[in-house]
Amino acid sequence: MDMLINGEHVSDMDREDVINPYTGEVIDSVPIAHLNNVDKVIKAANDAKESLQEMSAFKISNKLFAVCEKLKENKDEFSQLLTEEVGKPISESYVELDRSIETLKLAAEEAKRIYGESVPLDAGLNGKGFFAFTQKLPLGVVAAITPFNYPLNLTIHKIAPAIAAKNTVIIKPPTDAPLTVMKFAELVNEEFPAGVINTITGYGSEVGDALVASDDVDKISFTGSVTTGLMIAQRAGMKKVTLELGGNDPLIVLDDADVDAAVKGVINGAYLNAGQVCMGVKRIIIQEGIYNEFKAKLVEETSKIKMGDPTRKDTQLGTLISQKAAKQVEEAVNNAVDDGAEILIGGKRDGAFFEATVVDNVTPDMDLVVRETFGPIAPLIKVKTIDEAIQIANDTEYGLQAGIFTENYRNALRCANEIEAGTVFVNKQSTFRTDNMPFGGFKNSGSGKEGIKYAVEEMTKTKLIGLNLR
Ligand code: NAD
Repeated sequence: MDMLINGEHVSDMDREDVINPYTGEVIDSVPIAHLNNVDKVIKAANDAKESLQEMSAFKISNKLFAVCEKLKENKDEFSQLLTEEVGKPISESYVELDRSIETLKLAAEEAKRIYGESVPLDAGLNGKGFFAFTQKLPLGVVAAITPFNYPLNLTIHKIAPAIAAKNTVIIKPPTDAPLTVMKFAELVNEEFPAGVINTITGYGSEVGDALVASDDVDKISFTGSVTTGLMIAQRAGMKKVTLELGGNDPLIVLDDADVDAAVKGVINGAYLNAGQVCMGVKRIIIQEGIYNEFKAKLVEETSKIKMGDPTRKDTQLGTLISQKAAKQVEEAVNNAVDDGAEILIGGKRDGAFFEATVVDNVTPDMDLVVRETFGPIAPLIKVKTIDEAIQIANDTEYGLQAGIFTENYRNALRCANEIEAGTVFVNKQSTFRTDNMPFGGFKNSGSGKEGIKYAVEEMTKTKLIGLNLR
C-alpha cells in the first residue's frame, strides 16, 4: 500500500514488508519514508488547513457521517485485513470495526457541538462593563502516531476529533500493522479536500521523531509505550501533546466478591487480543479467604480458551504481533518461574502464539508484574487485607485503569477513592471502555484524555474576545 500525501499516492522508495504473524506470509509492503517526505507531508497538511477551516461544521459533520457509512459498507474487508496484519481473532476484529464506526459517529455528532462560552469579566477586579466570550479554534496540523494493537480504532480516536475540530491530519501508523489505517485514510480522502488527511510510513525513530520535532506541526496525539511517550514529551517543545501510554492494571478480588464474575473478568481482561491491551488485566490481587476457590475456577475457565487460526470464528486466542513479541513474554514468564512462581496452566510458546497462562505465587517485585507484560498472562498475587491490596495496586509507575470485585459498598468506595488510576471500575475488569468516556491514565500511563468530546477539547485552542462597552 502507498502513502497518501496531498491526495496523491507516494511510493517511489525502498519498502518494508508487512507480515501476517499467523502464516508468516508477506501480505503487502509499505514505503520507508525519509526526512524529505516528512517535509512534503507537513507542507501538504499546512496547505490544506484553509480548505478545511472554511468548511462549515454542518458539512464536516455530514462528511464524517459519510466516511462512517463507507466503513460500514466495507466492514468485512477491513476486519479480514485487521486479522491478517495483527493476528487477532476475526471475532475481535469485527468488534474493533464496530467500535471504529461508533467512534466516527461520535465525532460526526461532536463536530456540531464545539462551543465557546460567555465569561463574566465583572466577577474579577476592574472587569465591569465588558461583554466577553471564548471561541474554540483549530490548532492547525495534528500528527497522530499510533500503536499496533488496536490500530484502526485508536487511530480514529485521534483523526476523527481532529477533523471535527477543523484540524488537518498526518498519520504515522504502526510499523507492524499499517494497512487498515492506510486503507481507512483513503476513505477519508474521498470525502475531504486533498491534504486534509495524509499518511507517512517508515521508522518511528526517524519519521515519527521528525514530526514530533517540527515547528510546523501543532499537536502530537500519541498512543504507544511509555518509553516512546517519554521521548516525545522531551522532543515536542511548546506544541500540545496528548500521551496515551502503557498500563499495568490491577484487578482486586476481595473475600466478599462474586467469584464467578471476577473469574469472567480475568478471562475477558487478561487474554483479550492475546493480552496486548493497554488496559488489560495485568495483576490479579486476591484476598486469601477466596484465593483457592478463585484459582481453581480460573484454571478451569482458562483451559476452555480456544487458541488457533485467527480467521476461524470460534478462535478466542490468536497470535501475538510477532514471534519476537511472544519470545519476550516467554522470557518474562520463565524469569518469574526461576524466582519462585508456578505455572498452573499454559506457559508454552509456539512461533508467535503464547498460551493463555495462569501464574501462581507471584510476588509484587517480580518483573512479570513490575513491567507491562504484553501477553495472555494472569499473574496471581495473594494478600491478607484490603489495605495490602490497595498498596500493591498503587505500587507501580502506571495508572491507566483498575477493577475491583466486591459486594460490599464500603470496600468498593474505599478502593475507588484510593486507587491511583484514570478509571476505576467496580465489579468490572479494567479492560472495558466505551468510546465516549474520558479515557487516559495517571502517572506514567500518560497525560491528557481521549474519548471524543475530551479529545476535541485537546484538539482546540481557546481565544477570549472582550468588548469594552463603557
Ligand atoms: P511503540 O511506542 O513502540 O510505538 C507506537 C508508535 O510510535 C509507532 O507508530 C512507532 O513507529 C512510533 N514511534 C517509535 N519511536 C518513535 C519516536 N522516537 N518518535 C515518534 N514516534 C515513534 O508502541 P507499540 O509497541 O506499537 O504499542 C504498544 C504500547 O502501546 C503498549 O505499551 C501499550 O500499553 C500502549 N498502548 C496504550 C494505549 C492507551 O490508550 N493508553 C492503547 C494501546 C496501546
